Amino acid sequence: MTVRVRFAPSPTGMFHVGGARSALQNWIFARQQGGVFVLRVEDTDAARNRPEWTEGILSALDWIGIARGSYEGPYFQSSYAAEHRAAAQRLHEGGRAYYCDCTREAVQARTGSQYAGYDGFCRDRGLPAGEGRALRFRTPDTGETVVVDLIRGEPTFENRLIEDFVIARGDGSPVFLLANVVDDMTMGITHVIRAEEHLPNTPKQQLLWDALGVKPPVWAHVPVVVNEKRQKLSKRRDKVALEAYRDEGYLADAMRNYLMLLGWAPSGDREIVPWSVIEDEFRLEEVNPSPAFFDEKKLRAFNGDYIRALPVDEFVAACRPWLTGTDTIAPPPWQPEEFDEAAFAAVAPLAQTRIAVLSEIVPNVDFLFLASPSIEEAAWAKAMKEGAAELLDATVAAYEGLASWDAESLKATLEAVGAERGLKLGKAQAPVRVAVTGRTVGLPLFESLEVLGRERTLARLRAARLRLP
Ligand code: GLU
Repeated sequence: MTVRVRFAPSPTGMFHVGGARSALQNWIFARQQGGVFVLRVEDTDAARNRPEWTEGILSALDWIGIARGSYEGPYFQSSYAAEHRAAAQRLHEGGRAYYCDCTREAVQARTGSQYAGYDGFCRDRGLPAGEGRALRFRTPDTGETVVVDLIRGEPTFENRLIEDFVIARGDGSPVFLLANVVDDMTMGITHVIRAEEHLPNTPKQQLLWDALGVKPPVWAHVPVVVNEKRQKLSKRRDKVALEAYRDEGYLADAMRNYLMLLGWAPSGDREIVPWSVIEDEFRLEEVNPSPAFFDEKKLRAFNGDYIRALPVDEFVAACRPWLTGTDTIAPPPWQPEEFDEAAFAAVAPLAQTRIAVLSEIVPNVDFLFLASPSIEEAAWAKAMKEGAAELLDATVAAYEGLASWDAESLKATLEAVGAERGLKLGKAQAPVRVAVTGRTVGLPLFESLEVLGRERTLARLRAARLRLP
């Protein structure tokens, strides 16, 4: 039997990192088993049926290495409405489901509680289908439903505690729970690897598989992803959109490696390993069932490691979207014609060791391309203390006469200018850096000045001097 797994996102307008994690786990499992990965977009909610949202899912998957064309699908749940209805009808005809006209209020009045669940009032009334009548599944009164779960063992549910749940609404439309099962059946899915949030639905879904006469899949409920307060990552509270990480300049390789570390680790105390090692070593059964902490700080550090490991030319290429802007990344503050390829290439290796996400490239190099970079007020106040005017005057004078405009000479010269005033190099650098780059921190100063060139450096030093009393 060929293993067939599926990733079945509901379009929401963004791609949740927890979903990306599940997609990767499905992807690897399918490859390890020589199986097939199916993409199904669960778009039955009409409000979620937007082509651009589907496009967002495809491009997010593509970004983390699940390339378009290398899987089956995308299928769309909305195209299978006839199958969903036929299954509901089959369950009714076989006596496994019945129509119910109870209102919520009536059920509450009978049970005396809003939490009691459905009391089975219509079970044996034999109501025919009709407007406003929901179709309920008749759950067994005895026995147990054992879910075989690769990560959680065999969670067991007592059937008598499972209420007769609704499978089609009063208007005849099947609910998600049933549609999801019918699609998995139609698509021949053998293993359902999905988020833990769905575990409470699983006994109900397995009962539907049984009632429809098909062997249920093997399940694997992967752990919920939580923030540092152990709260489930939510889009209102946390940064959860994969696209947000991509646009901030996380590398796809770092991101997918990190996602695979949520609840699992490769052998030998290693975290940064080639993707091929993860593909070989990952075992679904080894995934820790406890909630997995999505540690943004660690991911950031991780990404910095990946950036540093890139060959310089790949780093330069990877920076490109932030140097030009794209449809989702804001353009940099300079005009396209101000950008200088050679100057960028000269400082790129310096930036590569210092940034953790690629978007940080812009504030590190903007001083090279902007005619006059704006100076942060706080930076100015911090750097332009007493003596700054004299220091700038002396630096300008010394730099004007410099025989060779290179980092080493620039450094030695400023060192000497500072020493005459009893200043260590670090202190002497501060006003120069702020005058030239507008910031108190940045790339190594003298290499930066070398690339910026004599004329522009001197012009900025003079302009800053003029602002001082
Ligand atoms: N569409 C569901 C979701 O996005 C997935 C359900 C499933 O994987 O079975 O949560």
